[in-house]
Amino acid sequence: MKHIPIKWIPLIVTTTRLVSSSALNTHKMSQKSIKEICRKPPAHWVGDGFHVFPVFANKAFTSELSPFLMFDYAAPKVFPPSTSSKRRGVGQHPHRGFETVTIAFQGEVEHRDSTGNSGVIGPGDVQWMTAAKGIIHEEFHSTKFSAQGGPFEMCQLWVNLPSHKKMTEPRYQPILNKDIPKVPLQSISNGSDGDVCTDNEDGWVRVIAGDFNGTKGPAMTFTPVNLWDIGLTKKDKEFELVFEEGHNTLVFVRRGSVEVQGKALGLADVAIMEKAGRKLTVKSTQEDTSLLILSGEPIDEPIAARGPFVMNTNSELSEAMRDYQFGMNGFDHFD
Ligand code: MN
Repeated sequence: MKHIPIKWIPLIVTTTRLVSSSALNTHKMSQKSIKEICRKPPAHWVGDGFHVFPVFANKAFTSELSPFLMFDYAAPKVFPPSTSSKRRGVGQHPHRGFETVTIAFQGEVEHRDSTGNSGVIGPGDVQWMTAAKGIIHEEFHSTKFSAQGGPFEMCQLWVNLPSHKKMTEPRYQPILNKDIPKVPLQSISNGSDGDVCTDNEDGWVRVIAGDFNGTKGPAMTFTPVNLWDIGLTKKDKEFELVFEEGHNTLVFVRRGSVEVQGKALGLADVAIMEKAGRKLTVKSTQEDTSLLILSGEPIDEPIAARGPFVMNTNSELSEAMRDYQFGMNGFDHFD
């Protein structure tokens, strides 16, 4: 009796995945258009450790980008080795009503919070922290990075929570680089019959949250959110990306430059897309270009934001400030 060699099994799985992925019929989908491009804003310091571009500028905390509230990008900056035991960063401070998502690209961020969680994230790692009803935490350069110094690059995104989740228990998701699926991204070229066909692998997508062509990211989210860290390795290659109809979608340039639907974007620029339409064409205009793409279902609720608190009404903000002042309902200081 002849056995089917075991190696057939993964082969079949691979074939199935490729067929389903390439069978994604996109040519009937409508194109998204650019609503606005926000150019690189002036940078400012958060604490003494994070020199950031507030990428959303005056659109931060508006319903226009919902569920995304705020996005700070610390572009690569070299820090000297620290001569004291003092680390750079931000000491104990509260959050309520949303999530903070920190992605480290270079250097290390160390975190500690009032629920007892702590950890260090390094290049490629992500910390997805749900503040929900309340958390107090500190964010510093790690002890090791402080001692060594070197280039530091990271970003922090604030994602809103729907009102019925704002006062739930906090949650902490450390997501390591090795747990984030990295899938090849193929550029497109136009076939002789006018159909779009896929070409070589000219990039990759790290799926942090949501879904990319059937590959799911590890982050648990409360509303549909896609967060993709994208690398475009070659110059002058076109890529077609597909989104959910009705999502707010943003393309951020972390390194290099691109054209989004034909419009040029450089370092720390962000393209805000219209909600309508599903397809987007991105063209690399430099080698080694990096993008962050955010797409999410809007939360159709009022936003009341003050400092580290994001609620739905002003009275909920007053309550948050009172709770923090008295160290109650989720706000416990720690040693
Ligand atoms: Mn914080």
